[in-house]
Amino acid sequence: MSVFDQLAGQEDVASQLRTAAQAARRMLAELEAAESGQDSLLGALEDTLEDTAEGEAAADLAEAIDRAGSEMTHAWLFTGPPGSGRSVAARCFAAALQCDDPTEPGCGECETCRDVMNDRHPDVMVVQPEGLTIQVKEIRSIVSRASTFPATGNWQIVIVEDADRLTEQAGNALLKAVEEPPSRTVFILCAPSDDPQDIMVTLRSRTRHVYVRMPTRKDVADLLLREGATPAQAEWSAAVADAHIGRARVLLHSEEARARRRKVLELGQLTNHPSRAYNAAVQVVQDARKAAADANKEMSEKETEELRTALGAGGTGKGAGTAMRGTAGALKELKDSQKRRETRMVRDSVDLSLTDLAAFYRDALVQATGAKVDLIHVDAHSITKAFADFFSPESLLQCIDAVMAARTEINQNVKPEMAVGGMVGAISEALNAGRLQR
Ligand SMILES: [Zn+2]
Repeated sequence: MSVFDQLAGQEDVASQLRTAAQAARRMLAELEAAESGQDSLLGALEDTLEDTAEGEAAADLAEAIDRAGSEMTHAWLFTGPPGSGRSVAARCFAAALQCDDPTEPGCGECETCRDVMNDRHPDVMVVQPEGLTIQVKEIRSIVSRASTFPATGNWQIVIVEDADRLTEQAGNALLKAVEEPPSRTVFILCAPSDDPQDIMVTLRSRTRHVYVRMPTRKDVADLLLREGATPAQAEWSAAVADAHIGRARVLLHSEEARARRRKVLELGQLTNHPSRAYNAAVQVVQDARKAAADANKEMSEKETEELRTALGAGGTGKGAGTAMRGTAGALKELKDSQKRRETRMVRDSVDLSLTDLAAFYRDALVQATGAKVDLIHVDAHSITKAFADFFSPESLLQCIDAVMAARTEINQNVKPEMAVGGMVGAISEALNAGRLQR
């Protein structure tokens, strides 16, 4: 099964990336021929003037690279709405570039493909912002590693997730590398926007743009079926996740995630009773905190252990004291970054719950207005129908606005408990005023 089978409803993207990976192989073959024939590609080009025969070879090489270059390039920008699978697409492409299968790049079967897809290939670096931005320091260290020759793979690949979070300085540092990429380096930037405006213009203009569209529910359900879900599970997950692939998978596989979603739906139902709704909302935030803390703890313990090993903690003898002081600094830095990551994870997790809650009122509104669109919480349609019967469409719209306002506040650093408290107040006010007389 090809790695590209993991993409839902992205036939065009898959075919473009397959073609690029094939071209990359031709490019690589030329590069290797040149590297074995001459000291370096640069050497080959410099020799052009001195030696006619070598000059012709170099010209052929340049031409071959040029030809492949129309399909393959060193810098890519993958954009698409959250849930479209753009970062999966980036990994699929990286796997296809590194893949060992002689006929099908991205075979999905070889160890290399599996390592890349699981983020453990030594020549594929994945940059994920831990805080709200990606700092220049991190990019500098990535860029310097990216310029080295690949350890085992064909290419040295850098995937930057959420490239819209690059600080200006970090963007500039990356730009330099993208402008003059080492011959074996490929940069893949991912950004969640529909429109790559959030990425620096200069960086954007130096990259090839791939747009990963939002898959339909059917695309996602088909994908889950291919991954072994039953038809009922696949359809349910695709619907309640509103075709968001990652979310659909989580809901399919995690009982905890399903339980948290149920609590959010209960909260929606309770917003009719402000005093109980307030507690339910705080509970939703606390659950999100706990889930984030658990996930972060697991990652952090592993990282700390790795860092300790890397720093050779536990050494004795001459110089061990100084080494320990350096170790303490590095460990503190790691701890700080883990703390920042947890903050972000809490925020993302609450945001997910609020998205579910907004969809609850949205479903009620859909039924109130008779709009011809699919419901999201397909398993809560009778509850949302009751809301549609009891409350005016205007008030339901105000509920959605209140949820969106809370999401914005949390994004701007308001404490989640406070933001949802205010949200519950605004929702019950809207529902009170919007009660239909029947
Ligand atoms: Zn493979």
